[in-house]
Amino acid sequence: MMLPKKPLNQMLPVRFRNGEQIRQFSKPCVRCGHMLNARDMRGAARLIDDHLAISVNARCPQCGESFGVACIVDNQKRVRRVLVPALLFGWYLRSLPPQRGEDGRMHSGEPAEPAPAMELPEAPAAQPLAPPAPQPRDVERAEEAVGRYQGQPIPAWVKVDGQTFTFERVAPGGKPRPGEFLLDDCLIYRLGH
Ligand SMILES: [Zn+2]
Repeated sequence: MMLPKKPLNQMLPVRFRNGEQIRQFSKPCVRCGHMLNARDMRGAARLIDDHLAISVNARCPQCGESFGVACIVDNQKRVRRVLVPALLFGWYLRSLPPQRGEDGRMHSGEPAEPAPAMELPEAPAAQPLAPPAPQPRDVERAEEAVGRYQGQPIPAWVKVDGQTFTFERVAPGGKPRPGEFLLDDCLIYRLGH
C-alpha cells in the first residue's frame, strides 16, 4: 500500500540517531533560482539506515516551474543526489512499510554507505606466539680432533660467531649452560681456552 504524497514540511523535522535534526529543506528553483523550502515540496521522506531519503516534487511559487528532487541526507546533514529517477525513488520510498524497523537498503545506484562505525573495544596488542627463531650462527670447526664420538671426529674447538669454544664433554641431548655451546646436539664446548 502506497503512502500518500505529503508536503515535505509536514514530515520534518527528522531526527537522526546522533541527535542531528533536519528541520528545513530548501532547494533553488531550477528555472528562476527562487529558493524553495519544504512547504513547496510534496512527496516522501523516510529515515532509512540513519539516512533521510527525500523524494519530492517541488513547485516554485515564483515561476510555477515544477521539478523532482531526490536525495539522501546523511546524519552529518550532507546531501547527496540520488541517481535513479525521482519518480521511481519516490515510489520506492512510499511503498516502504510505514512502521519503524526500516533496515531496507536503498536501490539508488549510489554506492552503499558504510554502516556507522561501531564502538569496538581496542583489540589487544598482538602477543608474539613464539620467541623469535634463533639466528643461524656461523660455526667453524677445528680440523684437529680430540677423539671420536659415534664414528665422527670431535673437533678440538669450534668458532661460533668469531668466539672460540673448546671441547668440554660429550653430552647427548645435553643443554649448554651459560658460556657453553652445544654442537651436533651431543658435544659441549666451553667459551675460552
Ligand atoms: Zn522558479
